[in-house]
Amino acid sequence: MSQDSFIPQKIVPVLVPMPAERPYSYAVPDGMEVKAGSIVRVPLGPREVAGIVTEGSTDSIDAKKLRPISELFDCPPVDDGMMRFMRWAADYTISPPGMVARMVLRVPAAFDPEPPVPGLRFSGREPDRMTSARARVLELAEDGMAWTRTGLAHAAGVSATVIDGLAAQGVFEQVMIPARPIVAAPDPDYAKAALSPDQTQAASQLVEAVSTNGFSVSLLDGVTGSGKTEVYFEAVAKAIERGKQVLILLPEIALTQQFLDRFHDRFGSKPAEWHSDLAPRSRERVWRQVMEGQVRVVAGARSALFLPFKDLGLIIVDEEHDPAYKQEDRVFYNARDMAVVRGHIGNFPVVLASATPSIESQVNASQGRYTRIRLPGRYAEAAMPDLKSIDMRRSPPRPGGFLSPALVEAINQTLQRKEQSLLFLNRRGYAPLTLCRVCGHRFQCPDCSSWLVEHRFRGQLVCHQCGHREARPEACPSCGTLDHLVACGPGVERIAEEAEKTFPDARIIVLSSDLMGVKRLRLELDAIARGEADIIIGTQLVAKGHNFPNMTLVGVVDADLGLANGDPRAAERTFQLLNQVTGRAGRTGKKSLGLLQTYQPDHPVMRAIVSGDAQAFYEREIEERERSGLPPFGRLAALIISAATRPEAENHARALRRAAPAAPQISVLGPAEAPLALVRGRHRFRLLIHGTRKADIQGFIRAMLAAGPKERGSVRVQVDIDPQSF
Ligand code: ADP
Ligand code: ZN
Repeated sequence: MSQDSFIPQKIVPVLVPMPAERPYSYAVPDGMEVKAGSIVRVPLGPREVAGIVTEGSTDSIDAKKLRPISELFDCPPVDDGMMRFMRWAADYTISPPGMVARMVLRVPAAFDPEPPVPGLRFSGREPDRMTSARARVLELAEDGMAWTRTGLAHAAGVSATVIDGLAAQGVFEQVMIPARPIVAAPDPDYAKAALSPDQTQAASQLVEAVSTNGFSVSLLDGVTGSGKTEVYFEAVAKAIERGKQVLILLPEIALTQQFLDRFHDRFGSKPAEWHSDLAPRSRERVWRQVMEGQVRVVAGARSALFLPFKDLGLIIVDEEHDPAYKQEDRVFYNARDMAVVRGHIGNFPVVLASATPSIESQVNASQGRYTRIRLPGRYAEAAMPDLKSIDMRRSPPRPGGFLSPALVEAINQTLQRKEQSLLFLNRRGYAPLTLCRVCGHRFQCPDCSSWLVEHRFRGQLVCHQCGHREARPEACPSCGTLDHLVACGPGVERIAEEAEKTFPDARIIVLSSDLMGVKRLRLELDAIARGEADIIIGTQLVAKGHNFPNMTLVGVVDADLGLANGDPRAAERTFQLLNQVTGRAGRTGKKSLGLLQTYQPDHPVMRAIVSGDAQAFYEREIEERERSGLPPFGRLAALIISAATRPEAENHARALRRAAPAAPQISVLGPAEAPLALVRGRHRFRLLIHGTRKADIQGFIRAMLAAGPKERGSVRVQVDIDPQSF
């Protein structure tokens, strides 16, 4: 009777999605069976949240304060590999484990399972006679997994009456299944590509890696259009065949609908998508079905790495060099690097694909940690575009314009051939700077250290850091003079204005993320692929992954743009971006041209692009990194210290620096103003921590944070291991 309440209850630690260093303790109600990895709903303050039961000791807690777990979710527990991966990620990034758990728990607190739907499960009975259609159905159903009637028919490529015929003979038992699979299972044999000899060779190496069932990293290195996707699809097919789940990471998945169609062409069904533009209901469904193993292949953005797969057996990281893989919010991580660790922990292969691999991956491959697999040229008759630079000092645009005569001429020729041109400029809006011709006043964001960018289509001045916007005035706010404000420099809108004047009969589309939402962008991209535009003017979102069959000219309006800042990675990034964007041209065999407008045609980046000699460029960059001990030859981390006032931020940063322990392999640089010194009204200082390859950077930072002042008032400290810019 009441004796019961004195028996010590079972207490378990639960990771809740909070920036707490340790899990919280909860009581397990009678009759509930939980273990490490179980997903539960628990009370937290006045709310209820989803949490993950974990291992290890719990804080001693006053039994009266101990609250019980509210609910055990009806889904499989997070597997051991994922639990280890989460611990590792928290450790490596110096993040509270609860914040990593938060990335895994992409489910609402009230996890409300969809009503079950009727399904069929193979009962082990033989049908009276066998047909090839029936055989295909049975082959799928034999493993005892439950299917819906239409799902099974679809996957087997038979009409639903075949299923009904089998059901009538008792071949299936009726069961209820949790929810309808969003996607039919991909079929590894649906439409195998006829690979070229080079591709076959590359594919067999990847297939071998998947077959041998162990950790390995392959760097699939081949120019744009060489068939990397076709090749890694073979590895995907093998993994599916072996019953494993597959994750394909893509930098801009929301915009690469073409990829899903290609996957469908090869495997007869689409992969599940995972990215931030998913509707909440789809997100919930994908999450759950990944966890239950129904979803076999996920094509996702970086956050897909934290999906709790039931049996993950292969990760592909496409465009592995892409900066979009770095998350710089809450938990700072690089999904490319984390994918490798996930593979290591899960003991399965990882494939990194790129036409312009990151310096880090290049070095890992040349030092034998990764296996390099090369695809030498473009597939079939598709030739690489002819690449040239246009020296803007010799071929200047007309006053007030940005397109050189040479580029205008090339566009005219392309228009005459009824082919498409892409004008690429990685800058949204109309002009990056507005100033007053009379007093020199410059329009700056009140909350950030950045100029306001004019967006003429909307008649606004916009901060690209924080989104602050104001109407563009007629008069200068400083001297009051009317009509003397000038726009300096180009953005895509201004290039569109010039193109409209220069090519009055051309159909022109501007693609920029601020002008339209994802849905509109997708439609526009499809329209372009169908040839419904002559000139496309776009920011980097057009550079990635798209295949425009009729595009034969790519003009880069300002090839020098990314080189201006002092970041040691600037050359590498610019090289990668220029390569990727010029690679949009000539994907289907037509003769094509890539033109780079530049004021520094002798810059190593321009030379590398024009000559096609990537190797020389990489060698130089790698040598430079090695000489200065920069990654991957040394280690870097950044601490960003921000506060509401400048002195608060600076003083805290100085105090942290003084708290740094002595370590011969590590030096601390700064504090200095962060590259973005003011963002959303917060002043930012940066400490850079530079160590040798073997240095324990994390240990050093932990010691520093422990000995230094704690975050207080408005002060926040963010840890960025392996920062993007340094
Ligand atoms: P990458 O991923 O290296 O940029 P893709 O895999 O996208 O290259 O291939 C470029 C183009 O060539 C695509 O349109 C693709 O369908 C086609 N292609 C590549 N290899 C083959 C093949 N073996 N059979 C048919 N088409 C191929
Ligand atoms: Zn701002």
